[in-house]
Amino acid sequence: MTPHDARALDRGDPLAFAKDRFRLPAGKTYLDGNSLGALPVATAVRVGETIRHQWGDDLIASWTGHDWIEAPFRVAAKLAPIVGARDGELLIADSTSVCLFKLLTAAVRARPDRRVIVTDAANFPTDLYVIEGAASLLGCEVRRVPAGGIADAIDADVAVVTLTHVDYRSGAKYDMAAVNAAAKAAGALTLWDLSHSAGAVELDLNGSGCDLAVGCGYKYFNGGPGAPAFLFVAEELQKELHSPLQGWMGHADPFAFSASYQPADGIGQYLTGTPSVLALAALDCGLDTFSGILMSAVAAKSRALSQLFIEEVERGCGDKVELAGPREPDARGSHVSFAHPHGYAVMQALIDGGVIGDFRAPNLIRFGFAPLYNSYAEVVRAAELLTEILNSASWDQPRFHARLKVT
Ligand SMILES: *Cc1c(COP(=O)(O)O)cnc(C)c1O
Repeated sequence: MTPHDARALDRGDPLAFAKDRFRLPAGKTYLDGNSLGALPVATAVRVGETIRHQWGDDLIASWTGHDWIEAPFRVAAKLAPIVGARDGELLIADSTSVCLFKLLTAAVRARPDRRVIVTDAANFPTDLYVIEGAASLLGCEVRRVPAGGIADAIDADVAVVTLTHVDYRSGAKYDMAAVNAAAKAAGALTLWDLSHSAGAVELDLNGSGCDLAVGCGYKYFNGGPGAPAFLFVAEELQKELHSPLQGWMGHADPFAFSASYQPADGIGQYLTGTPSVLALAALDCGLDTFSGILMSAVAAKSRALSQLFIEEVERGCGDKVELAGPREPDARGSHVSFAHPHGYAVMQALIDGGVIGDFRAPNLIRFGFAPLYNSYAEVVRAAELLTEILNSASWDQPRFHARLKVT
């Protein structure tokens, strides 16, 4: 495809208007929104107002005057239609790692006669660490199985099956409804990490029979570095499960200052300490970038962008890289990884040329496609630069081999 053809696709793109909701650096092709989402135009003004007029002028009265206290619920309500949940099933809180710990522990304690947690052996590292820590605290066994072996690993001893919906390396996507059905049939609960899928693929947490989920605010939701995460507890489980991290913000009446804990009704009990109001204001702007946009359109563009990228890369330099994930668009999320023995240096050369993706050890160059702000022209440009770098071996320079702390 020529850059001219790609620009024609962009002119026909029903989501092209959404790019104006972001402030993107000129001259760069940003394909790392799956790691840190781009900055929305509205964020700096909104956070500035929250600081100056709310915190600065109205001080502590802002908790009620500007309804800061309800922000974790108000922002969560914007997320509900994006992930297919009902109001009251989502909460913004903590980080993904902490939310995972809370829900995993709550789930295991709700199945006291079962002592096994099933997960994917190649799950995201923080998930594996949280699972290991929670299991040792709860006296559970962790059954780590390859992706293809999940269904066979679910038996009557399993309390929870916890998986990342879209694999952070390969982009492979689980069939959420099938896993949920298998777990339900065996009496186990499911807990999904949606960090690499929410905001880029279509989700129907209710329709697919999902019990519990967590996800990230700073990837496809553009909430800013270290944005708070979200958690989901299906309505029918809310009476049965209890947050293990009891804090005053999850109390039924925090300002009664009672000496004993009484959990709030509903999802509110999963709050622990005081919510991060400035971070919530930024995440609110991140979620506003989805306003008026159907997730079916987002998912369709995600498939089209990633498919075009695979085709263009394989046509240009397919003899030098190997696709490290599913070829079938419906079987993956919104990022694409290629294996190359010197992947680190190749990615540094790409970044030097203005195409920003990332590197995942041991040998993957990874490209994320954020349907709200990435274009077909950018996809073609990225594939062209990669082809040029690989065919000329221009990546093989000392400056591209020096390892940075964050890859
Ligand atoms: C990005 C990501 C996280 C991030 O966890 P934090 O606690 O926010 O650092 C967790 N799990 C997965 C699968 C991720 O992709």
